[in-house]
Amino acid sequence: MKSYLPVRVESHRFATRDIIGGDAALDFVNTVTGRDQSPRDWIDTYNRLLEWAVFVHLLPESILRALAKKAQAEPRAAALALARAKVLREALFELVTRIISRSAPPKRALALLHRYWISGIRAHELRFDDGRVFVNLRNDALDFDLIASLIAYRMVEQVLSLPTERLHICQGSNCSWVFIDSSKAGRRRWCDMAVCGNAAKSRRFQQRLRQRRSGRR
Ligand SMILES: [Zn+2]
Repeated sequence: MKSYLPVRVESHRFATRDIIGGDAALDFVNTVTGRDQSPRDWIDTYNRLLEWAVFVHLLPESILRALAKKAQAEPRAAALALARAKVLREALFELVTRIISRSAPPKRALALLHRYWISGIRAHELRFDDGRVFVNLRNDALDFDLIASLIAYRMVEQVLSLPTERLHICQGSNCSWVFIDSSKAGRRRWCDMAVCGNAAKSRRFQQRLRQRRSGRR
């Protein structure tokens, strides 16, 4: 993967069209878009990370508000946590794309995921209520790294437990979004047909048109 491409950090307002991964862990990976051509990072601040987390319902708003307050009081610690979350994000992209290409992920990516996954587990508690056991996020798990930990937890519990052929990368250009293909046939090629699918179709159409024109000459 062309990880040497310079990444432009942008402020971005998240919308429903940005959430196509099938799980928040993959949607987090997709907060860098266009990794294959001109990568843009949509998480410019820790507050943006919190905004995104609320948007994908990763954690309750009460915890978000508490984290936002904490970030205001400790901006440097929040910025460092954001930098750490981005390191995890790149490790997850590498992990997922290696799985898609049926090759072994780097050991350091697995080690990092393992570390955050464990803290994700620690952020939960088991509670017995109404005849059954619930897995709940602890109320006192207030930590700047909580978002990264929950993403790792989701990645292990929800994404890596799926059959590997269900993990796909968009074949559109300047996209590289990853997603869970839950279609019946399992042949989904695009993050969104209306975006990358149509762009590819019109590119192919233009190509054919050019070929036909040059054939006439
Ligand atoms: Zn795409």
